[in-house]
Amino acid sequence: MNDPIQIALAGNPNSGKTTLFNHLTGARQHVGNYPGVTVDKKEGTLTHGNCPINIVDLPGTYSLTAYSVEELVARDYLVNERPDVVVNIVDASNLERNLYLTCQFLELGVPMVIALNMVDVAEKRGIRINTKTLSSLLGVPVIPIVARTGKGVEALLESVESVSPGQEHLEILLRYGSDIDQTLNTIVPLIKENNLLTDLYPARWTGLKILENDEQIIDKVMLTDRSMGQQLVDRGEKLTQHLQSTVDAYPEAVIADHRYGFIKSILRQGVMTLTFDEDRLYTSDKIDKVVTNRVVGPLIMAAILLGLYSFTFNYSTFLVDWLDAFFALVSEVVDSSMSEGPLKSMLISGVIDGVGGVLGFVPIIMFMFFGIAVLEDSGYLARVAFMMDRIFHFFGLHGSSVMPFIVSGGIAGGCAVPGVMATRTLRSPKERIATLLTVPFMNCGAKLPVLTLIISAFFSAHQARYMFLATVAAWLVALLAAKFLRMTVLKGESTPFVMELPPYRFPTLRGLFIHTWERTWQYIKKAGTVILGISILLWAMMTYPGLPEDRTAEFDTKREQITASSSPDSKEQLLQIDALQAETALRNSYAGRIGIGLESISQFAGFDWRTNIALVGGFAAKEVIVSTLGTAYSLGEVDPESTTSLSARLAKDKNWNPVVALSVLAFIMFYAPCFVTVVAIAKEAGTWKWAFFSMGFNTILAFTMSVGIFQIGTLLGFA
Ligand code: GDP
Ligand code: MG
Repeated sequence: MNDPIQIALAGNPNSGKTTLFNHLTGARQHVGNYPGVTVDKKEGTLTHGNCPINIVDLPGTYSLTAYSVEELVARDYLVNERPDVVVNIVDASNLERNLYLTCQFLELGVPMVIALNMVDVAEKRGIRINTKTLSSLLGVPVIPIVARTGKGVEALLESVESVSPGQEHLEILLRYGSDIDQTLNTIVPLIKENNLLTDLYPARWTGLKILENDEQIIDKVMLTDRSMGQQLVDRGEKLTQHLQSTVDAYPEAVIADHRYGFIKSILRQGVMTLTFDEDRLYTSDKIDKVVTNRVVGPLIMAAILLGLYSFTFNYSTFLVDWLDAFFALVSEVVDSSMSEGPLKSMLISGVIDGVGGVLGFVPIIMFMFFGIAVLEDSGYLARVAFMMDRIFHFFGLHGSSVMPFIVSGGIAGGCAVPGVMATRTLRSPKERIATLLTVPFMNCGAKLPVLTLIISAFFSAHQARYMFLATVAAWLVALLAAKFLRMTVLKGESTPFVMELPPYRFPTLRGLFIHTWERTWQYIKKAGTVILGISILLWAMMTYPGLPEDRTAEFDTKREQITASSSPDSKEQLLQIDALQAETALRNSYAGRIGIGLESISQFAGFDWRTNIALVGGFAAKEVIVSTLGTAYSLGEVDPESTTSLSARLAKDKNWNPVVALSVLAFIMFYAPCFVTVVAIAKEAGTWKWAFFSMGFNTILAFTMSVGIFQIGTLLGFA
């Protein structure tokens, strides 16, 4: 047998790399990490004819800069491992953007075959691509495929085999404008003469990277030859100054512009033709003129988001009421059909109250997700991202930060865990960390029930308005925190933004229902498993250790005395004794002890020990705050027949008032993320440092805000 051919699959995210990889390798694959970083390294093998082939699925990237780990991993792999052939997967339905990466492979001079994927999608959209012309203009083979069905894959493999190993670098010379070309012409010979990294990279590429201010390459050059390196960097700086004063742009931007120009000119030469559907694109453009207008756009956006809230809250109430009634009924049935004891107590206070409290919010979440699905499927959400980009830049974040924020609950009701994972698309490590540290400030689906509970208890007259304000506050705090982080621990330049606006579409009802259901189901699953477990654990913490026997006996004696005295208000007195006993027991429990211990600090923000218990439980998952409050308050409940809801109980409680409610709201919105998010942050940042940072930073920030609200509110007499 021949030596195996080494192939690297490279392309943009979502171009179909993994699909092709799986199709090629079937079960013969394994996943590891690239040395030193948490980026998946997938490897697999296959035999084509009698030719063994090893394949690596490189991380998906849009570019080959030194901004992100993925991009560094991809280019280091290409340079250090020298695969025989790079299979560049290009999404035919997004040709222009995908070819940007292709350009950079050409610059790097790697032996390459282009797999033009998703030609089925392109065809459906009326995009026709002339692969012959494309191939001759780029100087590399272009093979149309459909990775999902395997169409064209055989031809692709044949083409791969025909690329001779060690094939000479293709010299497609991109031009970058006279200023940059001139500088390149002076520094490239210097790089060649001094053998700067010439064993690794083409000299022209090294020169280009120095002009692009690529940290990794500049460091390497400096290590090889300090004085020569300095001379090259100085040339680069001179060019930067010149471009700044003439065209007000950095060399990176000018270089990127010329790459796009190169692509555009290629596509114009009969490579791409649109056969239909121009109408829809045209209509989209017309809609966008209004919808993304500088003045009108944000107004429309605010109106749409406010509308979403009204829809969510006004139309879901009847279902919420039904569910509440249902769980009250179940409680009653269990109460009347079981004998007293720990099991009954656990069922009512741990299971039914806990799960019921969380499931009771399913209708709201369903309506909310339905509304979001409409925005997402119609294409409007991308416009929100587009408009938000201007703002994001100002706060030291990137346009691509918008999606993580929205996923995390930027439109209330997401989840920070996928939000943290969505930061993978960010290129600059600093912008990425700033984003993943601030997305937990958003109002995730788990915080919604808590916010709704407190808002309906104290501000029920303006529920929708308060929820909208909560969203605005979340954004404001997240952005200010991001700005603060980017000015202190995460100082550094911002990176430029590329994003596209898909044409508007009418969402299909089926698509909407599937999206709504998927997300709601995720929430229910979480409630049914994690939350149930934690709810029972917390019930145990709130029940054990019970009161010592002598204390119980004391209460029993008092009861007997009252019964014996047969005074007219004895019934009331008995109930008071019951309440006192329940409260004493809760204070004595493990949870009570923690809550009381924290009261010495939390009093400055107006939280009593029951609230403390719930907030501690909220570390595990924010949903738990509701169920814990429910358990805490029903355990201390005076009248077992009472069916008043938790929010009514809070509204009546002497330790609560509107100022306390606001203070608690602020704390819940901004304190430490739940532990699942914390774990995700540690994983994505590649270090626990940032995970612990987020817990400490957020909690201190939240507590400071709560203390401020409580103290000022009390001073002004709103309490
Ligand atoms: P990756 O991010 O590059 O690994 O992309 P994936 O392999 O995960 O593919 C992204 C999506 O595109 C998946 O939903 C695939 O099923 C879909 N996909 C991939 N190749 C094709 C194709 O040739 N035609 C169509 N219609 N869909 C495809
Ligand atoms: Mg993939």
